[in-house]
Amino acid sequence: MVNDSPMPLVPPYIESLRPYEAGRSIDEVRRTYGLTNVSKLASNENPLGPSPLALEAIRRELSGLNLYPNGGLDLRRTLAENFDLKPENVIAGSGSEGIMSGIIRTFLCDDDEVLTTDAAFIGFQVLARSRGVKYRTVPYRDWHYDLPALAAQITENTKIVYLANPNNPTGTIFTRHEFDSFYRHVPERVLIILDEAYFEYAQDNPRYPDSMHYRYDNVITLRTFSKIYGLAGVRIGYGFAHEDLIANLLKVKLPFEPSTLAQAAGIGALMDKEFLHRSLELNARGLRLLTDSFRGMGIAVVPSDANFVMLPFASTEEARGLTEALLREGVIVRPLGAFGLPQCIRISTGTDEENARCVEAVGERLCKR
Ligand SMILES: *Cc1c(COP(=O)(O)O)cnc(C)c1O
Repeated sequence: MVNDSPMPLVPPYIESLRPYEAGRSIDEVRRTYGLTNVSKLASNENPLGPSPLALEAIRRELSGLNLYPNGGLDLRRTLAENFDLKPENVIAGSGSEGIMSGIIRTFLCDDDEVLTTDAAFIGFQVLARSRGVKYRTVPYRDWHYDLPALAAQITENTKIVYLANPNNPTGTIFTRHEFDSFYRHVPERVLIILDEAYFEYAQDNPRYPDSMHYRYDNVITLRTFSKIYGLAGVRIGYGFAHEDLIANLLKVKLPFEPSTLAQAAGIGALMDKEFLHRSLELNARGLRLLTDSFRGMGIAVVPSDANFVMLPFASTEEARGLTEALLREGVIVRPLGAFGLPQCIRISTGTDEENARCVEAVGERLCKR
């Protein structure tokens, strides 16, 4: 077979994508650097492991795995009860990224544009670009979403505005007041995705606009069990929106998503208040330690309302040097080149021990230079 162009089957907007590159795994770092004790502070996972009640719920479902799942109906009902909504306002999927993928397939057509910030959450960047639509961004202002600038960039072709609050990778939030002013400038034909993957970590901040407190017809809220409930490996997330939006998403959703075990895990996790509180307390201690210690060493730390901190350095070399030095000490952090921020690294909070070890390793690196 002879082809003139590289791969005629593949549209150019797919060909130009690169497959998702996961962070370094614990096993890989152990082998490469000959270490036994490795901490992964790279993917915003819960250092306490999965919610125990979620694990119990998974075990109870194992013997029914010969049967097809019911499309998330049980979890939708449970979420509706917990959040005082109707099941028609709720969708469940394979992680919030599974739902995001559905949103992109459901609402975007050829001439539509997507608008968000520079260096937005990588999962969203990839999904939006894979649809071949125009993807426009606005720079951060002081590592925060510049909502007035975003509002000014909305055109008649803008179909989706994507906002993560708290944001990944910066960890920053926009306030209720900022969102209210922004919302007044958004036409009703524009869908706002409010990605609240880290909302549990931020919800006690009085400035944080928990989007459950105001429901607009053109806003969809996305949340996940991947972070605070420690279930990233199970793939379970959910969304809240107007019932017409949900009804259309359900037409496009894979019918047997989420899996039986994922749905059970979500229902179990929602009951696990004890695990939620333990996770929140550990994270608050971790954020304080990482932020105060790094600042004490003269390193800039962006204030975070999530379970990670971002460190912006003056140069890519500096960020790369620290990432490598930490790897050699058995601490995996996330360099942010793939997000479009090669001068920055992101560090997730770990156990108290892991956080202390990370601080120590950063301190040693500073002394050596
Ligand atoms: C981690 C994360 C998610 C979660 O994705 P899942 O598919 O639910 O695992 C979504 N959005 C942002 C901004 C994240 O950081």
